[in-house]
Amino acid sequence: MSGRTPRALFPAPSAIDQRPTIGVLALQGDVREHSLALAAAGARAVAVRSARDLRSRPGERLDGLIIPGGESTTMSTLLASFGMLQPLRGLIAAGLPAYGSCAGMILLADRVEGAEEGQSFLGGIRMTVRRNAFGRQVDSYEEDLVAPALGADEDHPLRAVFIRAPWVEEAGPGVEILATTRAGRAGTEGPGTGGRIVAVRQGPLLATAFHPEVGGDHRVHDIFVGMVAAARRR
Ligand code: GLN
Repeated sequence: MSGRTPRALFPAPSAIDQRPTIGVLALQGDVREHSLALAAAGARAVAVRSARDLRSRPGERLDGLIIPGGESTTMSTLLASFGMLQPLRGLIAAGLPAYGSCAGMILLADRVEGAEEGQSFLGGIRMTVRRNAFGRQVDSYEEDLVAPALGADEDHPLRAVFIRAPWVEEAGPGVEILATTRAGRAGTEGPGTGGRIVAVRQGPLLATAFHPEVGGDHRVHDIFVGMVAAARRR
């Protein structure tokens, strides 16, 4: 063989894709950016577009799910008309790890202030979320978060982009607070935006008020992929 390694006829076990499969709800929002961040965090991202994509138990087809930002009113209308609300609620109740950013955080909340009349939610996290909390006039607000739970310290803060974002008004029992906005930093804060809860975790459910998928920092996705991997091992 003149010193060359013979080519294997069948893929070696190591070539089989061991990455967790994480669905990205692809009705609206930053689907591509979340998929790229998931790939960078070592997961396989798949688009979830219909109730058929959800017809399985946690771990069969999907090991986890991301609910991106967008407009929670539009997303709940689409989820209802595509018959996806019940299957999603069922998967979350059965323990599927899920991560919601911005509108996704609103959808995962047990209670929502400022909801539209008749708006439906998935629920799951024992918290009260206020929609458009940063003020309708503040379309976009950015801040460098220091949040050790998200791997962000003073030297490596997490750039958080809030777009007509909610915040967590009240976190119930068992809800871990992962990040709050900084109080009184000149030049960045709108009225009353300091000290607000903007990232939480409850068991296999994670939510952020901001959009970590923009800007190429995948620390939040690393954490979620870690949660998904831990749930797979159980
Ligand atoms: N304001 C939006 C809502 O209520 C959320 C905005 C976002 O996801 N960027 O659904």
